[in-house]
Amino acid sequence: MSTKIQMKTPLVEIDGDEMTRIIWAMIKDILLKPYIDLNTEYYDLNLRERNATNDQITIDSANAIKKYGVGVKCATITPNAARVKEYDLKQMWKSPNGTIRSILDGTVFRTPIIVNNLTPFIPTWKKPITIARHAYGDIYKNVEYRVEKPGKVELVYTGLDGTTERLEVHNFKDKGVVMGMHNLDASIRSFAKACFTYALDQKIDLWFSAKETISKIYDRDFKDIFEEIYKNEYQDKFKAAGIEYFYSLIDDIVARVVRSEGGVLWACKNYDGDVMSDMVAASFGSLAMMTSVLVSPDGYFEYEAAHGTVQKHYYNHMKGEKTSTNSMATIFAWTGALKKRGELDGLNDLVAFAEKVEQASVQTIEEGVITKDLNQLLTTPNRTVVNTEEFLYAVRDRLAAKL
Ligand code: NAP
Ligand code: MG
Repeated sequence: MSTKIQMKTPLVEIDGDEMTRIIWAMIKDILLKPYIDLNTEYYDLNLRERNATNDQITIDSANAIKKYGVGVKCATITPNAARVKEYDLKQMWKSPNGTIRSILDGTVFRTPIIVNNLTPFIPTWKKPITIARHAYGDIYKNVEYRVEKPGKVELVYTGLDGTTERLEVHNFKDKGVVMGMHNLDASIRSFAKACFTYALDQKIDLWFSAKETISKIYDRDFKDIFEEIYKNEYQDKFKAAGIEYFYSLIDDIVARVVRSEGGVLWACKNYDGDVMSDMVAASFGSLAMMTSVLVSPDGYFEYEAAHGTVQKHYYNHMKGEKTSTNSMATIFAWTGALKKRGELDGLNDLVAFAEKVEQASVQTIEEGVITKDLNQLLTTPNRTVVNTEEFLYAVRDRLAAKL
């Protein structure tokens, strides 16, 4: 008789590409399926499948998260020109993460996984730095144009009543490029609220960065909306909790973050968050030690790893070589999603199980059993560098001891 943990509502499982796809299956086989009767609704976002469905599969997966509330996503290829060739694509499909984010709206929170035998490259950082990344608009929903001949490019606004306004972008004398992008007050508002709520929940200061001295209308809008919501809804609560909110220019915030001891929530615009979360992850050790969750204002959650598909490792894997790829962030994507599913469905045993998987994973690294990427960073002498699969078995041994 199996005594596996039961689930109620299906978890939306979004599979992906390359090395992370290999890891995905290993995590399920080694750490999850032996203990849980996994109830998932499966969406395959493998690039071939996206191409075959004209990317409908990506839209379907986001709608499934809207239906059930919680999803877990594997890293996926965002095609560039090389990928279009490699996979013989019908077109250069958009970033699946961008598509899913724009359907769910919401904010991405990224936090490093801290282990006690790894010192960050910035040694004054003692506590995790969480990056909140706005997940709608800006360059991820841009319209781009390549100017091939001399001519004038304008921004034209046409109102419902037919009135128009025109702004000259540039009068091109020769070839060049141009881009239009947008954002929505409603989305900025829910981003701000998500950040204030998260900061209060975690009792950490909130810093928001933009560049309103250069972008006097666009970035100014972000700054003003944050300030208005803070004054009207959160100022008293922040005072009571002993935490603070402040806005500053992104270059100033970067300097402050580097000098800080961590333990703050740094709210970033979409592109800034893309760049800065990789910087923070790399400084804390490895991109593979960074967790990521998209929280929508309607209460939908999507968990994923912050890193990509680890292409180089995949090609080695396909040549039959053993890889030493770090699965921590993908493990934590699964445990984050299972914990949230458990919380929403009132399944305490599922929550407790996911927590034990996290503890066993951290313990494995703290006992010196690591993948290659952590070798240089470890501050303790005792270590064994293992391959991708061996790491997962080492976690399973420690997990089994806790169950
Ligand atoms: P990447 O997959 O994050 O890998 C970059 C490098 O970082 C790797 O070559 C590896 O370094 C190291 N690395 C990242 N994750 C690791 C892990 N788990 N364990 C060990 N080392 C790890 O980024 P990329 O090579 O720029 O992108 C590959 C593909 O991923 C692209 O097609 C991109 O579109 C996609 N991508 C997807 C997402 C997502 O779905 N969320 C995010 C970013 C990128 P070494 O080679 O030195 O070992
Ligand atoms: Mg990035």
